[in-house]
Amino acid sequence: MKAPAFAYARPKELTEVLALMTEHGDNARLLAGGQTLNATLNMRLSEPSLLIDLQAVSALKGIDVQGQVLRIGAMSTHTEIEDSALIAQHFPLLTAAVPHIAHRAIRNLGTFGGSIAYGDPAAEWPACLLALDGVVVARGPRGERRIAAQDFFTGLYSTDLQEDELVVACELPLAKGAQRFAFDELARRHGDYAVVGIAATAQVQGQVLRDVRLAWLGAAAQPLRSTRTEGLLEGQTLNEALVAQAVQCLKDELPTEADLTHSAATKAHLAGVMLKRALKTLTQPATAA
Ligand SMILES: Cc1cc2nc3c(=O)[nH]c(=O)nc-3n(C[C@H](O)[C@H](O)[C@H](O)COP(=O)(O)OP(=O)(O)OC[C@H]3O[C@@H](n4cnc5c(N)ncnc54)[C@H](O)[C@@H]3O)c2cc1C
Repeated sequence: MKAPAFAYARPKELTEVLALMTEHGDNARLLAGGQTLNATLNMRLSEPSLLIDLQAVSALKGIDVQGQVLRIGAMSTHTEIEDSALIAQHFPLLTAAVPHIAHRAIRNLGTFGGSIAYGDPAAEWPACLLALDGVVVARGPRGERRIAAQDFFTGLYSTDLQEDELVVACELPLAKGAQRFAFDELARRHGDYAVVGIAATAQVQGQVLRDVRLAWLGAAAQPLRSTRTEGLLEGQTLNEALVAQAVQCLKDELPTEADLTHSAATKAHLAGVMLKRALKTLTQPATAA
């Protein structure tokens, strides 16, 4: 099928984008890399009369450190993140997660902001943003708003973003101590969306974890953290009994949902496997580079 006819605008300034959004309301759609939107247009799941292409808006680009945060412009592509030395230095979790996103051709076009705004429960970036305690910077006619990742994802493909707002960037607080991370996911084939995945961060001293954050993709109807399980692990010495307790706690806590190929029970089991692996990775002694 082909997309229905639509008008096309390619503004250069954020103010022009906001003016077009206000003028056209629900009849307009923002176009980032088109890696999700183009398919929904071709399948006629969405029939906007105007596409507002964000490619020429320089204010939405760039990856840089600003004070105590690393700011990722909404139009940064997955490939730019994959190739960024700044990201590798400050947030190796993202460098580890990015090869799991589709394939290079899609990563060359798909964007961080598009992925966050779309809020796919099985996507990698929303879970990473949760694990890194990130903040979404949104702009609308009433000005700028900063939304903690924890409050941003509200349901299945649902976010706190209002209809007249766009994501301009995400901010990740720079780690204060030696933060360790683990990213792992199970997918049917490389490049497929995750069946279940985990993005985990913690401060680690020996076998003791502090500031533990466990974020999940593919497991439930939305990207989410398992805060009860985090609480159980916080400040405790990791041993076999604690790991078993954490896996049980996670099973009770995660609102797993079946998809086309896996039952909710299978997902709960797989999440437990992912948790065990992540805890092992987090507490492995750091190897010299
Ligand atoms: C075959 C295939 C496999 C894929 N596999 C994966 C995968 O394994 N993991 C994964 O995470 N993703 C996967 N994707 C999706 C891909 O990562 C996309 O990059 C991602 O969904 C976002 O697309 P985009 O940036 O091109 O945004 P678009 O497709 O242009 O837009 C997506 C939606 O977000 C809105 N939007 C875009 N930018 C903004 C903004 N700044 N503010 C507010 N709203 C905005 C658009 O209006 C639209 O509704 C896959 C895609 C394909 C085609």
